[in-house]
Amino acid sequence: MEKGRGINTICTHVGGVVDERYKGAISPLYMATSYAFEDIDEKRYPRYFNTPNQQALTKKIAALEHTGDAMIFGSGMAAISHTLMAFLKAGDHIVFQQALYGGTYNFATTQLEKYGISYSFTHGWEAKDFEAKMRSNTKVIYIETPSNPLLTITDLKAVSDLARSKGVLTMIDNTFASPINQNPADFGIDIMIHSATKYMGGHSDICAGAVAASEDHIKRLWESSICFGGSLSDQTVWLLERSLKTMGLRVKAQSDNAHKLAELLDDHTAIDKVYYPGLKSHPGHGLAKSQMKGFGGMLSFELKEDFNPSDFMKSLQLIKPSMSLAGVESTVTSPVMTSHALMGEEDRKAQGIRDGLIRFSVGIEEVEDLMEDIDQAINQLKSKTVLAQ
Ligand SMILES: *Cc1c(COP(=O)(O)O)cnc(C)c1O
Repeated sequence: MEKGRGINTICTHVGGVVDERYKGAISPLYMATSYAFEDIDEKRYPRYFNTPNQQALTKKIAALEHTGDAMIFGSGMAAISHTLMAFLKAGDHIVFQQALYGGTYNFATTQLEKYGISYSFTHGWEAKDFEAKMRSNTKVIYIETPSNPLLTITDLKAVSDLARSKGVLTMIDNTFASPINQNPADFGIDIMIHSATKYMGGHSDICAGAVAASEDHIKRLWESSICFGGSLSDQTVWLLERSLKTMGLRVKAQSDNAHKLAELLDDHTAIDKVYYPGLKSHPGHGLAKSQMKGFGGMLSFELKEDFNPSDFMKSLQLIKPSMSLAGVESTVTSPVMTSHALMGEEDRKAQGIRDGLIRFSVGIEEVEDLMEDIDQAINQLKSKTVLAQ
């Protein structure tokens, strides 16, 4: 079905539950937690990740990520923690990329030691930075590209080649790119993890996670995940299937908007610096072009020092300050106040995350309306600064 089909055809058609009885256009929703045994080895149960809606949706996600299989979880962090726990054991070591989602950083630094698993963070995002941190007991390399919040780009092929040469597994948090803009499996990465709360859901009304990998890797993940129990409610599985049908359209619109805005903001006199992999000035631009299909809907920027980022966010009228991201509506956040609040000031500084940094999740609105909102907010700040002098 998916062979040779375009991305929006896969989004729309692959992996639904066929309504044999009434021929409805969409998947029927099966909420049952109890199913009669068909075969004693095939026990159907939500926490076994094998209800009809769960099984159908994993086919769509696997097709989108170019992998043999997939699993869905109750949140992005459930997907991340279940995957790490499935492939690591006492005595193992994992190398994490330095720029990492705040929740993953928190999981690594507060949980892994309890299980006798050691970890290191790289000092950069080049293959040599990962190699420098590898030990004889390293089992996993964990990357994030584009990263949060500075949109650094990691070389997928170089990292997977390094890992393969040492027999190490690679995992990527592919949330920011979404499967529309990046398919790491094509570059040899083993396990793709998503916070489906973000682009897969896309409407800021679903909390979910997803993992895509080979059939063998998913089997191993399944075996431990049924113990940890982080399955997603079928009602939300059904909603996520609906959301995925428009993911290609949404992400394309968001990426186009982000690219135009990044260029406008880059020329803006009130803005010091813009981080967006689509800008030619971005250090990862060439690499992003070679491994991404679009540059994504996320960007970040630093306001000139005279302006207070918190005042800026309060002055916006259309764009909402919000911790989450990737919805059809544009949102902004201060990483220092939200996603990276649990990280110490020194670690943040080492990563180049300044207090004045604003992360911008670009929605599907008209670029003109978004730019007008930013301009009016900056004008409010300017008049405040003048009054204060
Ligand atoms: C939000 C997010 C997560 C965590 O996902 P939840 O659904 O909130 O648990 C992980 N990684 C990235 C990059 C995210 O943006």
